[in-house]
Amino acid sequence: MKLKSASFFCILLAALLAVSALVPFGLSESAYTKFSRRALDIFDTEITLMGYARTQEEFDRVFDDTMAMLRRFDQVFDAYNAYEDLSNLYYVNRHAAEAPVEIPEELFSLISWCKEQWNNGLRSTNIAMGAVLSIWHEYREAGMAHPEAAQLPPVEALQAASAHTDFDQVILDAEKQTVFFADPQITLDIGAVAKGWAADAVLPYLREHMPSFLISLGGNVYAGEAPLDGRANWAIGVEDPRPDENGGGLMYRDIVDLHSLTVVTSGDYHRFYVVDGQRYHHIIDPETLFPSTKMLSVTIICESSTLADFLSTTLFVLSAEEGLKLIESMEGVEALWMLPDGTEQASSGMGQYLRSLKNAGGKV
Ligand code: ADP
Ligand code: MG
Repeated sequence: MKLKSASFFCILLAALLAVSALVPFGLSESAYTKFSRRALDIFDTEITLMGYARTQEEFDRVFDDTMAMLRRFDQVFDAYNAYEDLSNLYYVNRHAAEAPVEIPEELFSLISWCKEQWNNGLRSTNIAMGAVLSIWHEYREAGMAHPEAAQLPPVEALQAASAHTDFDQVILDAEKQTVFFADPQITLDIGAVAKGWAADAVLPYLREHMPSFLISLGGNVYAGEAPLDGRANWAIGVEDPRPDENGGGLMYRDIVDLHSLTVVTSGDYHRFYVVDGQRYHHIIDPETLFPSTKMLSVTIICESSTLADFLSTTLFVLSAEEGLKLIESMEGVEALWMLPDGTEQASSGMGQYLRSLKNAGGKV
């Protein structure tokens, strides 16, 4: 009996030693499995959540909770539909010129963040440009539904609308959490930043409940802690803006390897319509009031998804030189530009993430 328990003890000890020897090699992580699920009914886009959880049930709970939060933001940020007892963006755009409207915290936080950028002189992404953007939206939707009858908006209409895009006329009161339009014809369009803001807003929950995750809101990606399969980083594809022209439908131009960071791309290839053989996409240059033609796409990497979303739209409108100057002046922000002539431009720290740059010793 004594001998038996001693040998049992030895076996147990050997087993424990074996397990502890394996832990540094990451095998304890095998308790986690990678799961992935998609939602197609939020933010008018495809949302994917991927992550390492112990069971399908655990993952499903995290997925459902995350989507519930995103569904709420989708209603608050909705510019086209009213919801009972909710002063959402639709309500604000209709009523904020009559009197100050008390708005949900999410919307107040997003509008004030954008106004701060405006006050700091970053004005290429102007969410108070709703009057101009809604004209383009209307013509784009009509042109996509009936390509044979697609038309450009009249320049006079765009110019008249652009007289009502001064963000200074949007008055915020932080104490009362209200917004008021001093210009009755001004409206807000938060499409350039809403997905980034929403990604940041679900981060605290994800970090607590499933730290090793990757979430994509229509290509607006946030990568959490490293995957639990021994890899140091998540690999995220940077789409080729012109796959057909580049010899055979390759989806990605490059790969970035990173964790605990966001990757956001603005491009001219997802939402556009065609008039007389010319593409007209959805990012409008406030100077020309037309879709900006300076870039095919711009990808931003940094910690804040709100900032990345804002900057990807901003750099899409700025020239390559202006954009590079701006990014190099910012701490912890990197960018990759795809230019119409097929060349690329990368900020000085992009090489640490970009696979092609790593392989080419830092040069594209
Ligand atoms: P996506 O929505 O495809 O990720 P963006 O983040 O660049 O792309 O946002 C584009 C959206 O932002 C447009 O659909 C429009 O609603 C809005 N937008 C377009 N141009 C501007 C601009 N110059 N300033 C502010 N918002 C803009
Ligand atoms: Mg954006």
